[in-house]
Amino acid sequence: MPLAEIAAQARLIEAKTLVEYRELPTKRWIGRIADGESSRAPFDWTINPYRGCEFACRYCFARYTHEFMDLSPGDDFDQQIFAKQWSRSAFASELARIPRKEAIGLGTATDPYQPAERRYGITRKMLEVFAQDSGRRLHITTKSDLIRRDVDLLEQIARRNRLIVYVTVTTLDTHLARALEPKAPRPDLRLEAVRVLAAAGIPTGISVSPILPGINDSYHSLDMLARAAADAGAGHMWGNVLFLKPASKSVFFPFLQERFPALARAYQQAYAQGAFLRGEYPDMIARRVEQIRIAHGLTRRHESPEPACPEPQMALFAA
Ligand code: SF4
Repeated sequence: MPLAEIAAQARLIEAKTLVEYRELPTKRWIGRIADGESSRAPFDWTINPYRGCEFACRYCFARYTHEFMDLSPGDDFDQQIFAKQWSRSAFASELARIPRKEAIGLGTATDPYQPAERRYGITRKMLEVFAQDSGRRLHITTKSDLIRRDVDLLEQIARRNRLIVYVTVTTLDTHLARALEPKAPRPDLRLEAVRVLAAAGIPTGISVSPILPGINDSYHSLDMLARAAADAGAGHMWGNVLFLKPASKSVFFPFLQERFPALARAYQQAYAQGAFLRGEYPDMIARRVEQIRIAHGLTRRHESPEPACPEPQMALFAA
């Protein structure tokens, strides 16, 4: 049955003020990264426990994914949240088929610690499976301090797998963060999460993506972020310039017009040729991020050392 039909039939579980939660049957938990994306991403496989994301970032690149369900990339994306119906055995057997040398990204399209996680706990259930495994390469990305809840499991995973957690912080300015990422936790809460994870010995970095021309791209802004991250115990930092697919433009451009009208025309022209900016600006930002990263003793992306116990434990995945 097409995904749009399954989504339309999904039973309404809970309707908060504006947000509706539904459960979605799923046949596949772990997706192969698209060929064209593989050179840009540090992982080969992706896991996203939820479809849609309540954090409602104005620039969110993943909005197009709701179009597969005949839902709008605008309000529907952050107000119609689908939780995949959990099956431990199905997830574990899929994971067992993934070669250990290939990296897995958790939270590549939607945030695995968005508010729905408090209700469904699917991310935690997945981590429980990873905690029984070894020799895996797992990247987790989130904007939420809810990840602190799972420190116990993350510690276990880090002992026998290559784990890296990236907490995304795009600005220290609370007002700007509220405008750009209306329902995501405040930047200071995210940095506190970095502190807790790092103190527990979990390899942790920050992502400063997306870097938005004229908004959060100044040397000062990025430098302050790197300093705060290093102070919190982060070991790593990376950041890329905003990319805008058509579905994201339909939300981001009206936002710009309202909040940053002086930038609106320049963005429209710059992104008229495609989703990615080319030329001097992204090169300049790459150099800037590199310079700041090094100045604060942060490394680029992380590969933790070989885990102490890398032996596969396939028996743990017996049905
Ligand atoms: S947290 Fe990530 S997935 Fe969620 S709305 Fe923001 S950018 Fe999109």
